Amino acid sequence: MSVAANLAGIKERIAAAAARCGRNPDEIRLVAVSKRQPVEKIASAIAAGHSLFGENYLQEARDKVAALPDAEFHFIGHLQSNKAKEATGMFSLIHTVDRLKLARRISARALELGIVQDVLVQVNVGRDPNKSGIAPEELEPLLAGIGELDGIAVRGLMTMPPQGDMAGTRACFAALRSLAEKAAAYGLIPAGFELSMGMSGDFEAAIAEGATLVRVGTAVFGPRG
Ligand SMILES: *Cc1c(COP(=O)(O)O)cnc(C)c1O
Repeated sequence: MSVAANLAGIKERIAAAAARCGRNPDEIRLVAVSKRQPVEKIASAIAAGHSLFGENYLQEARDKVAALPDAEFHFIGHLQSNKAKEATGMFSLIHTVDRLKLARRISARALELGIVQDVLVQVNVGRDPNKSGIAPEELEPLLAGIGELDGIAVRGLMTMPPQGDMAGTRACFAALRSLAEKAAAYGLIPAGFELSMGMSGDFEAAIAEGATLVRVGTAVFGPRG
């Protein structure tokens, strides 16, 4: 299947999933995850009318961002604090802020650049020892800390559930949404918050639980190189 055909199929499935739970499909953006995919495949997605991509590795993203100035890129990988400076300003949204030290570095660089860097806070809802993300009980103090920084704006939350059955995955998505609702009620994130959750195997469940950004890689581009 071509990237164009895959994209059309995924967009149809997003619309159908939204319709099933009475949501407006325009509230849900597809982040086509292009890590370890060649620039030509991203270019074919752009030719098919898709412009939003997610990258995990800074070094690889740097070349793609330069080669494809008309595309919009989000950063969805683990971000080391010593790479924060380079990432700031390269991506319209960084999904993976999970500690104050990283937020401080992003803030400092954004102030140098005279921009506001939009970010999401990654929460390890499933307490998976192999995954990044802040523990749920530490979320509010982190949000309060970031709220004191200039040049960085938290737009919502992101999660990656542990490997497991669909019921457990869906429970993680629901838990992220309730954390976001609580944080919004305290004014720690905007009322119209973003929820980045759902990948190739589970994006429909994520939409049912309120996802506004679904990160879909292999179902768009095929297996990674
Ligand atoms: C790779 C990756 C995805 C996409 O996964 P697929 O199963 O290929 O859809 C989504 N989110 C993150 C954070 C990833 O690293």
